[in-house]
Amino acid sequence: MPTQDPPSGVSFSESEEWRLIEKSIDEFIEQEIDPLEDDLGELWSNPRRRHETDGRLVPEVVEAIQTVRKKSAENGFYAMNMPEEHGGEGVSHVTWYRAKKHVASHGTGLSEFVLAGPEGPKPLLLAAEDEQVETYLKPLIRAELSAGFAQTEPGAGSDSPAMQTTAERDGDRWVLNGTKQWITNAPYADFLQVFARTTPQEEAGRYGGITCFLVEADEYEIGSLNNAVGLEGMQAEVRFDDVRLDEERVLGQADTAFYNAMDFLSLGRMELGAEAVGLAVNLLDHAKQYANDREAFGRPIGKFQGISHTIARGRAKNYAADAAGQKLAWKMDQNESVVEDASIFKWFATQTLWEIADDTVQVHGANGLSEDNPFMEHLQLARILRIVEGTDEIQLNTIAKQFGAR
Ligand SMILES: Cc1cc2nc3c(=O)[nH]c(=O)nc-3n(C[C@H](O)[C@H](O)[C@H](O)COP(=O)(O)OP(=O)(O)OC[C@H]3O[C@@H](n4cnc5c(N)ncnc54)[C@H](O)[C@@H]3O)c2cc1C
Repeated sequence: MPTQDPPSGVSFSESEEWRLIEKSIDEFIEQEIDPLEDDLGELWSNPRRRHETDGRLVPEVVEAIQTVRKKSAENGFYAMNMPEEHGGEGVSHVTWYRAKKHVASHGTGLSEFVLAGPEGPKPLLLAAEDEQVETYLKPLIRAELSAGFAQTEPGAGSDSPAMQTTAERDGDRWVLNGTKQWITNAPYADFLQVFARTTPQEEAGRYGGITCFLVEADEYEIGSLNNAVGLEGMQAEVRFDDVRLDEERVLGQADTAFYNAMDFLSLGRMELGAEAVGLAVNLLDHAKQYANDREAFGRPIGKFQGISHTIARGRAKNYAADAAGQKLAWKMDQNESVVEDASIFKWFATQTLWEIADDTVQVHGANGLSEDNPFMEHLQLARILRIVEGTDEIQLNTIAKQFGAR
């Protein structure tokens, strides 16, 4: 069970406390999660059997994912970065970074649901008040509910302040109308955090005039699934048609949601980069093993520099990405500004994972393409990570702006 740990100094050494957390996560995955995956058998191991014809995950898999999250919450792992007063463990950003990376290094099994992701509690929800805390935040931290974050629309992705979803006042209620798309966990969520324009841009400015509403599953309609190759069944279009909401459904202050969300943008980039670094560790281990075992022309293929240098390049880049991630997490613990650091890390870690995933397929030859191995799935996931939480180009725009290059 993790406890509060103080921010580490400028040190890359791993505290005794982190080692204990790492060990208990490993034991938890081995004892609780791996058997669940074994029980699912083909339903999990064969991506084609994991989904209904429209892409939705089959009920057995949905149930298994929920079980993973609940067991993880009971053991104090799931939302360990959330404050203790709400049922989290209040661990530092450095510990959360290490935990995210470590879990991802187990590969993309059911273990990837051990720590809260886009469906879980986000710091944005810490703006919740009174009833909202009891109804939404605490059950989310206990993994009794799951949620989603609904910002992207058919006409507004990177340029999300251009959103067309609106909420207008009607007496003491709000009336919400619009369509979101690519919303992770929408097909299974109990509620969504929905961003809507409540005051026109001309009056409130580009980033002002946007409000976040807590909208429950029976109040919106799920449209078609947005099945990304390699992540089918997880994202969907969501429609709001004259949804009437009480004032209690406003999260934080009306008109300020975009500024609040921007405050937590860096955390999302840190989490995603940590997952990229962890998955790359897993892939490099597989590539190394295969390079030692597979023989061609009378020797292990790792004896050919074309192979060993490919792996070495990946190892060096992932080492640098990890150092950047640890520095980012440490600076977050010091409450320093990390806008540029977060973009540098997210961009570099996901680019690095993409290269390593591609190289891992190459090192494995035809076996890298086989459905029996997860490497093509990893390559697809690596591609996705360069789009979500801000595309490559948006990260480079931020770095250029922060550096003063434009
Ligand atoms: C698997 C997955 C999960 C997702 N989950 C969620 C979710 O839970 N909630 C949510 O709200 N959204 C979610 N999204 C949406 C995601 O945030 C957007 O796809 C992303 O922000 C990019 O928007 P877009 O796809 O509309 O691309 P666009 O913004 O249309 O961009 C298209 C291309 O133009 C480039 N471009 C755009 N503007 C600039 C610029 N100023 N300078 C240089 N290049 C630019 C982009 O980098 C990109 O290459 C998810 C998407 C995927 C694929």
